[in-house]
Amino acid sequence: MARVIVVGAGVVGLTCAVRLLEAGHRVDVVARDLPLETTSAVAAALWYPSLASPSDRVAAWARTSYDVFAGLADDPETGVVMRTGTELLTERAADPGWRAMLPSLGRETSLPPGYAAGWTFVSPVVDMPVHLRWLVGRLDALGGTLTRMNLSALPDDGSVVVNATGLGARHFGADPSVVPVSGQVVVVEQVGIDRWLLDPAGPTYVVPRTDDVVLGGTAVEGEWSRTPDPAIADAILHRAAALVPALEGARVLRHKVGLRPSRPTVRVERVDNVVHCYGHGGAGVTLGWGCAADVVGLVDE
Ligand SMILES: Cc1cc2nc3c(=O)[nH]c(=O)nc-3n(C[C@H](O)[C@H](O)[C@H](O)COP(=O)(O)OP(=O)(O)OC[C@H]3O[C@@H](n4cnc5c(N)ncnc54)[C@H](O)[C@@H]3O)c2cc1C
Repeated sequence: MARVIVVGAGVVGLTCAVRLLEAGHRVDVVARDLPLETTSAVAAALWYPSLASPSDRVAAWARTSYDVFAGLADDPETGVVMRTGTELLTERAADPGWRAMLPSLGRETSLPPGYAAGWTFVSPVVDMPVHLRWLVGRLDALGGTLTRMNLSALPDDGSVVVNATGLGARHFGADPSVVPVSGQVVVVEQVGIDRWLLDPAGPTYVVPRTDDVVLGGTAVEGEWSRTPDPAIADAILHRAAALVPALEGARVLRHKVGLRPSRPTVRVERVDNVVHCYGHGGAGVTLGWGCAADVVGLVDE
């Protein structure tokens, strides 16, 4: 079994680390930002396999992750809850390509004003701060380590290295195709909402968690700022309340901005001693467990 250094402690790095430890490897995770400081901690986070490529691999990764999350939802400490919700569309559309994955998927007939169609299905909702803490607990229990370290190059001590640096891969993968797509969210108090709603066009979303509700959002390519904009926050609150009137006047708990590591295609491949796993854009949570399974295979090659 190999000694593996995982660079990156977002959801992708930690999920890979856990699977590698379970496969019997010795794993050390190093990262500039600790889990609760990463983009991953900002994610809403709904399992939703669109807006990522290549579509055949994305479908397989998403399917694997769905099944893992469905299993984790039995344990409240994982932060995963299976929730019914609806994807809203302004125009009628053909079945989504990933319909086959979701036996529960059906056409929604009760729609908010302004929408022509909707898909209702059961999807994992992941409370990311809780889930990241749980992943760190798994890492620890399996004998892995997590160390804060701001690297200027990937380690080259002969170990196998997993490059799970998200946006950092612009530097480490010498890969300018990785770009930020910023996303702003407003976290409000839980006001008795248990269904998620998503209008991907906005994007506008309402993602209920056990103790709060994440409202979004924005998707601005090339934007590096992580400072929340009060005017955008007001617009998000307004759009969310238009979808779910119960949110009107809900107490705001937090404002957050995260930078999605976007790339034309998610990169999961081995080059010499480096296994790259980055560029998950707006779907790192959705794809994480599936990609981690491939990473274990690539480390074992
Ligand atoms: C507002 C918002 C909502 C989202 N909603 C969803 C959703 O509903 N569903 C979904 O699936 N996804 C969602 N996403 C996308 C998801 O958050 C990302 O795809 C995912 O977090 C990427 O994870 P990652 O581990 O690759 O990157 P990150 O979480 O960014 O982690 C990268 C790690 O690499 C480390 N690193 C980088 N450079 C260095 C360096 N020089 N030295 C050492 N370490 C380094 C960082 O410190 C960090 O630890 C959302 C994102 C945002 C912003």
